[in-house]
Formats: sequence, C-alpha cells, structure tokens
Amino acid sequence: MPNRKFADGEVVMGRWPGSVLYYEVQVTHYDDVSHLYTVKYKDGTELALKESDIRSQSSFKHRKSQSSSSSPSRKSRSRSRSPGRPAKGRRRSSSQSREHKDDKKKTVQETNLALPKPSENNTRRYNGEPDSTEKNDTSCIISEQKLKPDLETERVLEQYSLRPRKEEKKKEEIYSEKKVFETKPLEKASSKTKDLEFGGRIGTFVLIFFLPATVFYLLLKCKQDDPSLLNFHPPLPALESLWEARVFGIFLLWFFLQALFYLLPIGKVVEGLPLSNGRKLQYRINGFYAFILTAAAIGILLYFQFELHYLYDHFMQFAVSAAAFSMILSIYLYIRSLKAPEEELAPGGNSGYFIYDFFTGHELNPRIGSFDLKYFCELRPGLIGWVVINLAMLLAEMKIHNQSMPSLSMILVNSFQLLYVVDALWNEATVLTTMDITHDGFGFMLAFGDLVWVPFVYSLQAYYLVGHPNAISWPVAAAITVLNCIGYYIFRSANSQKNNFRRNPSDPKLAHLKFIPTATGKGLLVTGWWGFVRHPNYLGDIIMALAWSLPCGFNNILPYFYVIYFICLLVHREARDEHHCKQKYGLAWERYCQRVPYRIFPYVY
Ligand code: NDP
Repeated sequence: MPNRKFADGEVVMGRWPGSVLYYEVQVTHYDDVSHLYTVKYKDGTELALKESDIRSQSSFKHRKSQSSSSSPSRKSRSRSRSPGRPAKGRRRSSSQSREHKDDKKKTVQETNLALPKPSENNTRRYNGEPDSTEKNDTSCIISEQKLKPDLETERVLEQYSLRPRKEEKKKEEIYSEKKVFETKPLEKASSKTKDLEFGGRIGTFVLIFFLPATVFYLLLKCKQDDPSLLNFHPPLPALESLWEARVFGIFLLWFFLQALFYLLPIGKVVEGLPLSNGRKLQYRINGFYAFILTAAAIGILLYFQFELHYLYDHFMQFAVSAAAFSMILSIYLYIRSLKAPEEELAPGGNSGYFIYDFFTGHELNPRIGSFDLKYFCELRPGLIGWVVINLAMLLAEMKIHNQSMPSLSMILVNSFQLLYVVDALWNEATVLTTMDITHDGFGFMLAFGDLVWVPFVYSLQAYYLVGHPNAISWPVAAAITVLNCIGYYIFRSANSQKNNFRRNPSDPKLAHLKFIPTATGKGLLVTGWWGFVRHPNYLGDIIMALAWSLPCGFNNILPYFYVIYFICLLVHREARDEHHCKQKYGLAWERYCQRVPYRIFPYVY
C-alpha cells in the first residue's frame, strides 16, 4: 500500500466535514481510485475523508499539549459540541476580538487540536444532539466565521420545537448555515460501493432475467380466461408474434415526443441536492405541462378517430418493445459510465462488478448536455404512458363489451391512478430528493422499472378488467373511494410535511412540529406524520394500492399482484433507507427509532 498513510482498523483523528473539528475515528477502507478513506465515527456514522483531513492520534496529542501550554486558560474554556453543527459564538470585548483576530489562524489550528477526544467526554457529542450542559468555547472561532452566538444558544435550548413566526428570519440564517454541512458528507458518493444490495452479483444477474419474465408472465396470465394460480401455465405465444417493427416505431415516437416536451423551455428550473463535489445540477420542472400537452395530443388523435385500443390489441408487443429499448438504453448507460469521472458515479452502483453496476446503475446523473436521462425517465414516458394505457384499456372495454359507458370498476381504477400520476407530476420537484435521484445510478433497474415495469405492471388492474369485468355497486364504489382518499391524504400530507420541512424548517405552518437535530444539520421530525410511523408516506401509498385492486373483485389474486409486490418493495426500500439514515445520522437516528418504533404499519411493523 505505497499510497496510503493510514491502515484499515487504525484509530486516527478525522476532521468532521465542513467544520474545523477533529474526532476519533477508525479507518475501515481505503479507495485506491478516489484516494478517500472511509472512516467510522463513534456513533456509527461513516464518511469518506481525504488524507489531508486525517491525522494520527500521536500528532494530535502532541499538539494538544503544546496548545494547552501556550494558552493555559483555553482548556478551562473548552466546551464539547456535536461535530456537524455550527458552533456557537461567544461574545467578546472589542480588545478580545482584536486579539483573537490577530491570532485567528493559529487559534483555529490550536483549538482544533485542543479539543478533548470524544472518548474523554460524553459520547452524546457524536449524535449531533445538542447538550445544554456542554462546555467548550472552541466554537467561538467558527462563530466568527458564520453564526451569531445567540442563535445557536437558542437553537440548543429549543432543540425540539420549531420557532414562532417572529424568529423565522433568524432561523433561516441557521439553516442556510446548515447547507454547508449537508454538502460535505456526500463525499462518500465517490467511494466504492461495499454493501451490495439485491443479493449482490448473483441476485442482480438473476433479476435482469426475472423482472422481464415476471412482466410477461403477468400479461399472459391476464389474457387467460381463468387466470387463477392453479391454472399456472399460460399458453405461450409464438416468438415472432411478440415483435412488430411498427409497434417499436410507435414506442420510439412516444419516447422522443416526451423528450421533446421535456426540452421545451417552459416551467421553472430548480436545483437538485448538492453532489459529492458540492455542485448542484439544474432541472426543468415541466412534467405537468408535458402531461397537458400529451392529453391534448391524445384528444386530437381520438377526435380524428384514431383507435387507441390498438394499444390493448398489441399490448404484449409494446411491452417487448419497451423492454428491448430499456435494455439498449442500459447498455448505452453502462458504456458511457466507464468514461465518467469517479465523482460522478453512483454511491450505490460503484462496486467494480460489471453485472452489479450494470443493474443498479454506474453513473449517478447521466446527461447529454443538459438533458438528464434519469430524471426524464423517472416521471415522463413511463408514468404518463401508464395513464394513456389505462385510457386505452377503458376504450377497449367499451368496444369489446359493446358498452356506451365504461364500467364503474374501470372508472375507479382510471381515476385513482390518474390522480396518483397527476400528483406526482404536479409535485415533480420532490423527486429530486428521493433515493432514485440522489443515491441510485441510472442502470437497468431504473431504466426497466421506469419504462416497462411502471407502465405495464401498474396498469394491470385496468388490463385485467377488460377481460374480466367486475360489476360493483355504488355503495361499494363509494367505500373504495373513501379508502383511496384516506390513503391519498396520508400519502400527500406526509410527503408534503417532510418536503416543506426539508425546504424551509422554519416554515410557520410547521411551528407545531418537533424534531431531533442531527450531526448533519438536518432535523428528524418526531411529531406529526413522521412521529406516527417512520414511513407514513409508504403507509398511504399501500392503502391506495389496495384501493386500486378492490374494484377488480375477489375472484382472482392477479389484480392484487400490485399491492403484494408494492408492500414487498416498500418494506425493502424502507430497510435500504433505514441503513442509509443510520449511516447519515448515527445515534440521532437510533433515538428517532426509539421515539417512533413502528416503520410503516402502526402497532404491526
Ligand atoms: P421518502 O420520501 O420516504 O424519504 C426518505 C427520506 O426522508 C430519508 O432518507 C430521510 O432523508 C428523510 N427522513 C426520514 N425520516 C425523517 C424524519 N423523521 N423527518 C424528516 N426527514 C426524514 O423516500 P422515498 O423516495 O422512498 O419515497 C418517496 C415517495 O415515493 C413515497 O411516498 C413512496 O411511497 C413513493 N414511492 C412510490 C413508488 C412507486 O412505485 N409507486 C416507488 C418508491 C417510492 P433526508 O434526511 O436525507 O432528507
């Protein structure tokens, strides 16, 4: 190991990103390519640090004694504080200030080193939760750079409640300071992925075949007169019947039409979360406009008697076209990712194993110019495609069964899912903070998920109803609608509560909520929806998924595939998120889990 200074397992002093403070950490890994050390803090937080941010314990101790002697009073003034939080300033007289200013550079250095080691203090300092009994004036150095002393003091005292309106401005200052801290821990993004998910290399290899096979199996089952599980083996179509160049052409037309809508200079441009290098990408928010334009285009097609149920008649061929396209796209994405700089690779898809990285996505934000491929695919061709497919199923039902009106079941399924898609597009900017955008690369998983799984599996209920009509009464329809509204209400208010809190923690509308501060500067809500369960938005989503299946009746389990799969997906996603949050927030996260013990279902899970 000629290039590295510190060995795995070595206990050293690591600088907390964004601050001038050093803490005892253990080296767990070194990345030869990025030259970053992965280090573990005492609260379990793992970060990637540059060698220049790490010092040996011996040099630390040595300088500490020097600093103590050069400034005997310093030790008695010293006050421990949580690592990721901006430090409190201390009021000084002007002469003290001048003296301090003169000596500023030196003092910063010395004060860092004069900090007592975390082990010598209460380990609570690592969890980012302020302790009003803490004593240490090292903060005065940092405070002169950024924060006003009173604000920090008040924040410590008011650690669990949001501020009243009049203090909004002050609080904003604090949170703007926090942004500095939020950017730094993301340095980890450029290190190698060590914890392989989805069953590692074997798991992802299997999934590349299993996911398309599942889609085709479900679609074939839906076509069966008796799609029960006992009637396991659906008749297989002739291979040549699965492919039609015209269908592929229509798919390409659809994809590029959506790309054109995406490129239109309408809608505002917003910034995403900071990347590992601190840079923020810009995204145009015009998904809802794209939806309106698509609706207008479909309206024109229908006006000119275009038979939209063509989609139903060639459904399997469309699915094959979309799958082929997603595979080609994934291969392109992987090839181009090989040339991407290390810092632009996905934290979750940089294992060095071809299959794993191909599946999870090697590059985090592949772009052609300003065209963001992942962001575009997340909400446009697949999601809007889903409601167009639903509409095609509705028209196919009317045509096949000679109905002048669609069935009540079909209307419910169409309306519920339309609401879900419109909601996603209306709140498009919120996708920028999801795991898909911030953590997962763009590879087969998302390409296939966005372009095939979402439009062709999520529309299963509507597809099922065409071949298996289910009459429901108005009271049953009303009960299902109420259930969907409850799910939607939980889903939307939970997501909005968190998004608003992340965007502006001092929002007066959130003043009644309490939160636990964390070392990164972000808070964890412990009242409101996020104090009810740890993923209230998943709960609402699952309730809605059930409401989408119920109109299909109870004759068959097939239309319930979505809700079953969705519970599995969100339980797995919750576990992934939990793992990331544990790494990000350490003990603060554990404390949150103690306060809010249930993950998704209250008193159950
Ligand atoms: P979430 O919106 O649930 O976000 C999780 C993040 O929220 C955490 O990583 C953390 O990030 C933050 N957080 C966690 N706890 C708290 C708290 N107590 N207070 C404040 N912030 C907290 O993530 P998803 O991307 O998984 O889900 C977004 C939505 O998309 C959900 O409604 C979900 O149901 C839906 N979804 C739908 C799918 C579908 O196929 N239909 C698939 C997947 C998701 P940080 O602290 O960094 O901000």
